[in-house]
Amino acid sequence: MSSNPFDQWQSITESDAEIAAALKEAHVPTLLAALVHLTGDATLIRGDIRPASDFFGDPQGGISEQDQERVRAMALDVLRTYRDGGCPRPLTPGDAAVQEMVNFITGEPLSPDYVGFLVSELSLRGEDPYGQPGLAELPAAARGAFKVIIIGAGMSGILAAIRLQEAGIPWQIVEKNGDVGGTWLENTYPGCRVDSPNHTYSYSFEPNDWPQHFSDQQTLLDYFRKVADKHGIRDGIRFNTEVDQAVFDEASGRWRLTVKNPGGGEEVLEANAVISAVGQLNRPRWPDIPGQERFQGDAFHSAQWDHQCDLTGKRVIVIGTGGSAFQFVPVIAEQAADVSVFQRTPPWMSPTPEYFEEIPAGKHWLLNHVPYYAKWYRFWMFWRTAEGLLGSVTKDASWNDQERAVSEANDDLRQLLTDYMAELCADDQELLSKAIPDYPVAGKRMLRDDGRYLRALKRDDVHLVTDRIREITPSGVVTEDGRAYEADVLIYGTGFQANRFLWPMQITGRGGIDLQTHWDGDPRAYLGITVPGFPNLFLCYGPNTNIVVNGSIIFFSECEVRYILGCIKLLLQEGRAALDCRTEVHEAYNQRVDAGNANMAWGAPNVSSWYKNEKGRVTQNWPFSLLEFWTRTREPDPADYRLL
Ligand code: NAP
Repeated sequence: MSSNPFDQWQSITESDAEIAAALKEAHVPTLLAALVHLTGDATLIRGDIRPASDFFGDPQGGISEQDQERVRAMALDVLRTYRDGGCPRPLTPGDAAVQEMVNFITGEPLSPDYVGFLVSELSLRGEDPYGQPGLAELPAAARGAFKVIIIGAGMSGILAAIRLQEAGIPWQIVEKNGDVGGTWLENTYPGCRVDSPNHTYSYSFEPNDWPQHFSDQQTLLDYFRKVADKHGIRDGIRFNTEVDQAVFDEASGRWRLTVKNPGGGEEVLEANAVISAVGQLNRPRWPDIPGQERFQGDAFHSAQWDHQCDLTGKRVIVIGTGGSAFQFVPVIAEQAADVSVFQRTPPWMSPTPEYFEEIPAGKHWLLNHVPYYAKWYRFWMFWRTAEGLLGSVTKDASWNDQERAVSEANDDLRQLLTDYMAELCADDQELLSKAIPDYPVAGKRMLRDDGRYLRALKRDDVHLVTDRIREITPSGVVTEDGRAYEADVLIYGTGFQANRFLWPMQITGRGGIDLQTHWDGDPRAYLGITVPGFPNLFLCYGPNTNIVVNGSIIFFSECEVRYILGCIKLLLQEGRAALDCRTEVHEAYNQRVDAGNANMAWGAPNVSSWYKNEKGRVTQNWPFSLLEFWTRTREPDPADYRLL
């Protein structure tokens, strides 16, 4: 059996027939890579059975049914031998073999830089892929004397606490809600579910037997609760407690936080470092439409869903067609008497037929039992849903029609997605003309679709309104052309105050600088994590760490927390109190990020979104590869910081 603590598979005890049944569900390219581990035979992926990279088409990469059967038959032999031999740990492949497997799975020759990433992701050398080596070996007294306060017990806050706990560093979480889970606790609107595949949207160290490819809100909340409980995190969380202020004391190099306790009383907490894990999409945004207070019916925001409000038989107005409305409109269309959806900008949709499907039993078995299958499947998802799409959303300055598409590849994608929508709306050309966006694909995040959104909009009792709203009245909405729409319930799917990072907390750094004043509506940070003048303040999901093509934000958080632990390691090694990012490092970095974003579909001038601030700068998104973020955040470069 395995002696590597990061191996995540169980021994095989199933019969040949059970294994053969499971193999019917195999993703064949992933299976072949796993077979290379089990046999040590790289010729398996050198033959004529190989996938082509195919993002929106056949997930098996065009491998014929006949060839798939050949691979399954071979896999049955290999797994039988492995089982009968007592499930010995597979040999560790060398870098050259890993490179071959990477190229094979993605269907294209990738840069050798991916080998290091994969060696780490697969824990081939027994390493924790997102751990900070060496920190837990530093003197216990030094670690024990360094206290960290984490703000928020959502996905990033739980992660930071687990990693600090492993490293023997005292931590406390301050959480405004009464439970863990963050966005998955707060957003309970009907139809809410993740839009990154769950095998990438999960912690590297806590794989889960996900029931579906993309879980719903309750399943995700249960996952984060389970992980928090398993790691004993709850006892270190002050629930129903909100941070009002955080002030850096230059004399001691420590932070003082003023928190509001559940009873309303104030208390001051002290820490050597503060990790903000408050998320980007936390504070609901109400639109600047006049008359909102006059509406006489029920009105609520999608992130504060009013479950007491029964929509059965009601006339409902929905404002917004972003990720949230896209998910709840098909559900409420089934309940309400009539729904009018007010669209300002249509979304691009990413065809995802399996979006609501259960994971079949055979696939569960493969993920849980075949060595390295789950890890290669995770990488395939990583490539197919994020990294591999970057080329199709990058600007080609020589491409003519930049308003519609930023490159030929981006235009091909537009055509593909337009065809998809045209097929769904073959019987409703008016809807189709309203539904096709006029901005480039990936100007905004594409929304996962199995056809149900447009099907809902085609119903006789659902209306897509594209006229601009002039005002909200006591009985509904009036558009610019003077037309009145009556409603019993008004639902705002109008998003979040994403650009006001860390708001409404008041954060004061060196020299009494206020963070919001310093940012002046234009938040920036080095690697999204540190801000000059605010020593030992670390941000998770900070400026320019959001992703448009659908990578997993958990990947970013794991990289960020590893880096933050690296900063703490540096301080403990050097015996210093605090570190402050050098202004010139921060400036050069942000210039490069700005240039990168200007080169992407979401930076296109004709796209307006919550990714941009009022000055038009993209403050949210990371424009480079995920590999680059992973590489840059392995550990801090001491030259980037002044040690205080
Ligand atoms: P959003 O994407 O910001 O969408 C807000 C919608 O409201 C947009 O359609 C916007 O139109 C519209 N709107 C705003 N102000 C308006 C006004 N004054 N008049 C008319 N329309 C107005 O917000 P969201 O849907 O809550 O999603 C936010 C983000 O959360 C997503 O981008 C995604 O990253 C995340 N999310 C993820 C999931 C998931 O994982 N499954 C689900 C939901 C949300 P414009 O586009 O014209 O501004």
